[in-house]
Amino acid sequence: MNEQQLSKRLEKVVSYVSNKARIADIGSDHAYLPCYAIQQGLAEFAIAGEVVEGPFQSATKQVRSLALTEQIAVRKGDGLAVIEPADAIDTIVIAGMGGALIRSILEAEPAKLDGVKRLVLQPN
Ligand code: SAM
Repeated sequence: MNEQQLSKRLEKVVSYVSNKARIADIGSDHAYLPCYAIQQGLAEFAIAGEVVEGPFQSATKQVRSLALTEQIAVRKGDGLAVIEPADAIDTIVIAGMGGALIRSILEAEPAKLDGVKRLVLQPN
């Protein structure tokens, strides 16, 4: 799997991203999903949010290696904390984690959902 060839699961998840979205991928690991969404023209801007140092570094490396640093901001932080109002995020993706964790991330900062039109949630 890479940013060009997603897993079947991530392919399904990204199929719900469209219309030049501005996405926040929370728990982004290697940033494969935001890289794919930008490269395919599904999104015009993305945040790859990660709370753990190792995956954050992997995401940073991936975005730099594809020269996508203008379109993808890789940010280290817990859940929705990585989103700023100026990002004008309209789509939030949270995939590949437990449903209880996804719910706690959404409930922790409800104000960050203002202006968000679509939640793409894929609990394991
Ligand atoms: N979203 C990718 C996918 O679906 O393939 C990666 C899934 S990976 C199993 C889950 C990632 O979420 C891990 O990299 C983990 O560090 C990150 N994560 C867990 N809790 C988080 C939180 N509260 N905020 C941001 N990232 C988190």
